Amino acid sequence: KPYLPSTERYDHMSYNRCGKSGVLLPSISLGLWHNFGFVDNLENGRNMLKTAFDLGITHFDLANNYGPPYGSAETNFGTILKKDFSSLRDEMFISTKAGYDMWPGPYGNFGSRKYLISSIDQSLKRMNLDYVDLYYHHRPDPETPLEETMLALADIVRQGKALYVGISNYEHKQTAEAAKILKELKVPFIIHQAKYSILNRWVEDHLLDTLEDHNLGCIAFSPLSQGMLTDKYLKEIPKDSRAAKNFTYLDSEVVKENLQKVKPLAELAHQRGQKLSQMAIAWLLTRKQVASVLIGASSPEQLKENVLALEQPSFTEEELQLIDKYSL
Ligand code: NDP
Repeated sequence: KPYLPSTERYDHMSYNRCGKSGVLLPSISLGLWHNFGFVDNLENGRNMLKTAFDLGITHFDLANNYGPPYGSAETNFGTILKKDFSSLRDEMFISTKAGYDMWPGPYGNFGSRKYLISSIDQSLKRMNLDYVDLYYHHRPDPETPLEETMLALADIVRQGKALYVGISNYEHKQTAEAAKILKELKVPFIIHQAKYSILNRWVEDHLLDTLEDHNLGCIAFSPLSQGMLTDKYLKEIPKDSRAAKNFTYLDSEVVKENLQKVKPLAELAHQRGQKLSQMAIAWLLTRKQVASVLIGASSPEQLKENVLALEQPSFTEEELQLIDKYSL
């Protein structure tokens, strides 16, 4: 049966300006890195997208190689868009990326013009879209001149294949350099996508300041540290969890190493009347540069739980100090 979005979908979500651009992003966005590939259950993916949209999540983040196999998250997303969201395209903000390994040979990786321009065409085809709202260079390329990569992003915008551009995983100096080039090219560069959570603070060392200097927003990925910053690993590693699967960077070793930080953090969250996931999201949203927190999920229930983070957004000075004490 056709999907009818909730009429209350904009009643609870908050939207933040991304840098100094015209774009408002939902405080919580959904990424399709995991759980949307051909190896996964399409109906579950479909239910997650509908649930997300009903909760006011308007931003969906993909990349050329999300799956597995590569490309399959975009293909599945395209299938679901066609089935359920065909009249809702203008209420959605869709991003994709190129920069990591995608196809064999010398042209399917890193940051050449050849790679980026071919890859956006492939992505649009897989998703059945005329354009994406946001196109990213996924990681810096140490070999390709930055001018070449940035000009490719600019031309993709001029060809009408993306409305805005962003970069991901660039450190602060490269970010400033990219901003300078894209400003000269008059391209709407609005966002940096960076790994950022209570357990990973690398962006606080110069990057967030650089983003502010250049009027850019930050979207924080792996905000739950892939699930570590939830209540799920406190007792054991559940069989269906990401840490129990083999193709991720999260495994039982990483879980064990982090548990001594995670346990007191969870206790603090519970004292605040929150789940740890909710506290981890709310904490990121206290950062003025963070326009959106980019979560992943493996079920609609997780999305519902995570969005409740917005009900308790504030922290006392003491709570913030305790979070630092437990995690740093
Ligand atoms: P998170 O840190 O939010 O981890 C998501 C995982 O945590 C879920 O898949 C689920 O894992 C678990 N989880 C989420 N909510 C709950 C909950 N309430 N209770 C218990 N467990 C929960 O983010 P991701 O690492 O998935 O990254 C999010 C997005 O960021 C990606 O989809 C992608 O779009 C982007 N990203 C970008 C990168 C880049 O280089 N630019 C790199 C990595 C990610 P489980 O399966 O165990 O249930």
